[in-house]
Amino acid sequence: MELYSIKELDIDNKRVFIRCDFNVPKDEFGNITDDRRIRAALPTIRYCMDRDCKIILASHFGRPKAGAWNEEKDSLKPVAKRLHSLLKKDIIMAENVVGDDTIALAQGLEEGDILLLENLRYNPGETGNDSEFASRLASMADIYINDAFGASHRKHGSIYALPAYFKEGEKAAGFLMQKEVNFFDKMIKKPSRPFVAVVGGSKVSGKLQALENLIEKVDKVIIGGGMAFTFLKAQGYEVGTSLVEDDLLEAATRIMVRARELDVKFYLPVDLVVAPEFSDEVPVKFLPIQEVPKEWMGLDVGPATNRLFREALNDAQTILWNGPMGVYEMDIYSKGSFMMSHYIAESHATTIVGGGDTADVAQRAGDVDEMTFISTGGGASLELLEGKLLPGVEAVSKKIS
Ligand code: AMP
Repeated sequence: MELYSIKELDIDNKRVFIRCDFNVPKDEFGNITDDRRIRAALPTIRYCMDRDCKIILASHFGRPKAGAWNEEKDSLKPVAKRLHSLLKKDIIMAENVVGDDTIALAQGLEEGDILLLENLRYNPGETGNDSEFASRLASMADIYINDAFGASHRKHGSIYALPAYFKEGEKAAGFLMQKEVNFFDKMIKKPSRPFVAVVGGSKVSGKLQALENLIEKVDKVIIGGGMAFTFLKAQGYEVGTSLVEDDLLEAATRIMVRARELDVKFYLPVDLVVAPEFSDEVPVKFLPIQEVPKEWMGLDVGPATNRLFREALNDAQTILWNGPMGVYEMDIYSKGSFMMSHYIAESHATTIVGGGDTADVAQRAGDVDEMTFISTGGGASLELLEGKLLPGVEAVSKKIS
């Protein structure tokens, strides 16, 4: 599978539709709190500006619900403002997605103009992968570019139905999309070894398939966060009221058995920060995993675990990290995640961080600049790790017969 590259297309002076991922976090006042995804889209946008294209930008934002379309809180207007300040250029903001007025705006663009459509999900045709919706989007442009890696695991209108309206030579992946796909591809196929996967977060279920795929490729697996408890319980430990998925105990055992068969080293927490309830206003204890009281829950890994994990990372040449080691949103349970971020940042390995929460930990820990690569797509990167062909990747790939 090879992506068509934007560089292969003749786009000079053309009307170019760029599907971006501007789904950025905002605070309760509607301010953008992290504009990394917007900045990541700039190389493709600037490339088109340099070629005097008439540019149409589109993205989804949040999850508008049926019956509550067009809510101001889901509008892309703050993104238009941020683009304006980053590009030092006026952005024409459309009132809707595929209204007649917006199509006319797109068709009337002058060279160098940039039009931003409203939130694609304001129209149910986006999540419905609707062909009528896609054909209206297609009528706006001569060229289709997908630069929305973070949305490419979804079979949505602008990702899957839309590129079908463009012929070979009229569609391609943007620079961000190429970078993300190539990075994961290379890491999975030809990692420098030892290759260590650090997996955390709340549940095994969300990452089960990725884990089953990864176990075949890595040399070591380090498990932290809530998902560790399903593995620990499967080993017979008392984990109190910690997060456990009882229906996945067998799957957890299967993964650990497979690790042993392949001689993949498997690391679980040896001590924990435990609390009587899910709160940061209760007294906590630092206990070995053997001593978790029945009514208490583990909310972070403990100091001995941090040392163990650091030791396990010592000789790593490639580190893939997805998922925090504890409930990092609360200060008292954030240390395991922050320590992990520092260890990975300090290592001499190629380091790949995937997932919004994990990128957030690296950001709060001040380690972002030390990581080799931070993926903009959590769900999409997990599906790549599961070995799946993403619909958005397929739609702009060269067909190999
Ligand atoms: P995920 O989306 O699956 O990567 O999970 C991220 C979430 O896992 C974060 O919001 C963490 O607060 C949460 N998490 C990490 N460790 C634990 C734990 N021990 N118990 C409950 N939730 C956890």
